[in-house]
Amino acid sequence: MSGARPEDWIRPEIQALSAYHVAPAQGLIKLDAMENPYDWPPELVSAWLEELRPVALNRYPDPAAQDLSTALRAVMAIPPEADLLLGNGSDELLQILALAVGGPGRVILAPEPGFAMYRLLAQIAGAQFVGVPLRGDGFELDLHAMGEAIERHRPALILLAYPNNPTGNLFDPQAIRQILAWAPGLVVIDEAYEPFAQTSFMNELGAYPQLLILRTLSKLGLAGLRLGLLLGDRAWLAQLDKLRLPYNINVLTQQTARFALRHWPVFLGQAQVIRHERGLLQQELMRFPQLTTYPSRANFILFRTPAQQAAAIHAGLMARGVLIKCLHGVHPQLADCLRVTVGKPEENKRFITALADIMSQDKLVTEGLDIL
Ligand SMILES: *Cc1c(COP(=O)(O)O)cnc(C)c1O
Repeated sequence: MSGARPEDWIRPEIQALSAYHVAPAQGLIKLDAMENPYDWPPELVSAWLEELRPVALNRYPDPAAQDLSTALRAVMAIPPEADLLLGNGSDELLQILALAVGGPGRVILAPEPGFAMYRLLAQIAGAQFVGVPLRGDGFELDLHAMGEAIERHRPALILLAYPNNPTGNLFDPQAIRQILAWAPGLVVIDEAYEPFAQTSFMNELGAYPQLLILRTLSKLGLAGLRLGLLLGDRAWLAQLDKLRLPYNINVLTQQTARFALRHWPVFLGQAQVIRHERGLLQQELMRFPQLTTYPSRANFILFRTPAQQAAAIHAGLMARGVLIKCLHGVHPQLADCLRVTVGKPEENKRFITALADIMSQDKLVTEGLDIL
């Protein structure tokens, strides 16, 4: 009889992790995960299904996803000198990066509050994660603190989300260039929200061989497909490619992404609508005198509630059928903060109406007491 127990064999740093939590969303208006809310037009769905018909599921996919890579280069205007590595979502590419540079004595550094996966993946790779606090007044990079941390920890990898999640702002590009000049190792600029920020470091790849750029199709409308891209210097990407599992981009993803890239204007059009709706939602939020709303260049908005009310407001919204993200407790700088993804106009209205209902004072007090 085997007495094997997980606590004896699972690496201690894995046992110490808490699993990435995804909130159940059934029956709710889902404004918690930065998804594009729009379906495809019916004629596009039909054309897509036709294109999937001949796909051979009994065969392994093209391991290099050649045709898809060619299409991505054209549509995303990737500089010809940049190499390209594809991932099953950009999360997989972040995992590959962490595994490639990780291990004992290695540091992965990122500003915080930031994308939760950065810390999680560093820990999985057996690296030390160093989070450098952003400035308190508007979540801008604290260049002085970054410089000190870089000098002290000599990070193998620096991760910068541009725009940042969950704060929504774009860091000062000059500060990023200074970090690039200081960095002893790799710097990855994570441009997951580029469709909503419409600015990029892609054209600076040539100036910094240690710079890699991370993109994803998820936030633009293909979150279910799982396709991310890492761009940059051939010598770096050739090493990272060794960590990629041979068939990481499955046949359905390859075929569907190629189809979607031929219909790219549909997605760009949806992003434009989302950017417009972001402005309207921002204005609506700013009409609540009790809330602090932060400017956003992404497809979500961060806002701060009065002290100790975030959980009650979050629960109140859920009771009214709207799911957003509660960030209270995630990081000291996010105390009392909530994050809402920009949805369809009618979804945003439902959110604002529910929020207004909750914010009418007496209700908040009662519901707050209910929950606490
Ligand atoms: C959503 C997100 C990702 C992950 O995207 P996938 O490609 O879906 O894995 C990466 N970075 C940031 C900053 C994100 O917000």
